[in-house]
Amino acid sequence: MQFISTRGQAPQTSFSDVLLAGLAPDGGLYLPQSWPQFSPSEIAAFKGQRYQDVAFAILSRFTAGSFSDAELRDAVTAAYADFDAPDIAPLVEIGDGQYLLELFHGPTLAFKDIALQVLGQLFSRALAKRGGRATIVAATSGDTGSAAIAALGGLANIDVFVMHPRGRVSDVQRLQMTTSAHANVHNIALEGSFDDAQGIVKTLFADTAFADAISLTAVNSINFARIAAQCVYYFTATAALGKPVTFVVPTGNFGDIFAGEAASRMGLDVGRLVIATNANDILARTLNDGVYESGASHATLSPSMDIQVASNFERALFEAAGRDADWTAAAMSDFSRSRKLALPPAVLENLRARYSAFASDDLETRAAIAAVHKQTGRIIDPHTAVGVAAMRKMGKAPSPVVVLSTAHPAKFPDAVTQAIGSAPPEPKRLAGMKDLPEKLEVLANDPALIKQFISSRLGS
Ligand SMILES: *Cc1c(COP(=O)(O)O)cnc(C)c1O
Repeated sequence: MQFISTRGQAPQTSFSDVLLAGLAPDGGLYLPQSWPQFSPSEIAAFKGQRYQDVAFAILSRFTAGSFSDAELRDAVTAAYADFDAPDIAPLVEIGDGQYLLELFHGPTLAFKDIALQVLGQLFSRALAKRGGRATIVAATSGDTGSAAIAALGGLANIDVFVMHPRGRVSDVQRLQMTTSAHANVHNIALEGSFDDAQGIVKTLFADTAFADAISLTAVNSINFARIAAQCVYYFTATAALGKPVTFVVPTGNFGDIFAGEAASRMGLDVGRLVIATNANDILARTLNDGVYESGASHATLSPSMDIQVASNFERALFEAAGRDADWTAAAMSDFSRSRKLALPPAVLENLRARYSAFASDDLETRAAIAAVHKQTGRIIDPHTAVGVAAMRKMGKAPSPVVVLSTAHPAKFPDAVTQAIGSAPPEPKRLAGMKDLPEKLEVLANDPALIKQFISSRLGS
């Protein structure tokens, strides 16, 4: 399988190159040259199969030519060995035709593990084959950082730098990152927002001399390997329910929900894809008004979604524009200059045919946690709650509705306590973390300073 850039100015390349590069050299995002196709009978046959087997069947279409079947099987098996749920992504019913798809049973208790564990396994195999070292710099709104550290900490030939917005992640999220004992893990608490951190990553990539010198790589959801791994649960959930599903997806960087679009382009019959956002509602406004315009980022109860500029939206725009790379490149460069992009009517229409969007504030988030708790006894986390709030706004859907449950409630005890008056029970995975020493460096929002810090840690 070959991959192309959404901006059309990068050479076609293989899955391993995409994996190790992250961002395309023209600043665009990689997508498969054409989407692999699954027939209705192939999809129906996923019902009852082990999650790992479905993941293998889907990922092998993307990795062909880069990894052998045996390598991919080993990687997938290792990736899901440390999950608490035997079926990896269990569905639970919370109402008539309403389900949660629990994606938080991995090592760091958020859905990021599902893709990053695979990515870590593939990464170390690809690097072993190619030789040399790689430097990963990740911006995190809270969960990607810990999942990347859990997947890559201690691996040979890789250094991991994780930037989180200082004071804007939960204590549990911070501790999961800063208490890693691995020498190849470096935490930066950035004096800024997630968007600032993401901006710095882009600046480092644009500095090609620096990027090449340290073999800079991204594991944010701009890395297509993550999207590929996230398609899988759209297939397993649909196969389990036996009919097209409306998926409600708590959204920040648009990676998780774009994996739903990818599944649909691969032949899965998907109902609507519902974008659920918190007060950072740029995507909801875009679908309603046709103008993609970033504003100031707000701190909310669902910090992993406190994002204004959703990187993966570029992939959806490219597809909605009929894969017109020239238009996408011009549109993205306009947007980076003016922070505003008016969508052409045809593009907007294509987006609206697939996506709906609902924004909810903290009050509605707390109300959703309380309502689910009252009705079912289950405690949901504030990100999942933004999804449940969107489902309630959406009204009656023609198909089963599945809300992606993206984090374990114990990661956000304060928000849960505000909603139901007590904190969720602490899972074993978090026990004792508070007593460990923390390693982190507080740095100003300045790309030059971050560059210096990375160089000094790498001893280069
Ligand atoms: C990352 C994250 C999201 C948002 O996912 P995107 O792919 O960035 O849209 C939602 N919920 C939780 C808990 C997350 O960690």
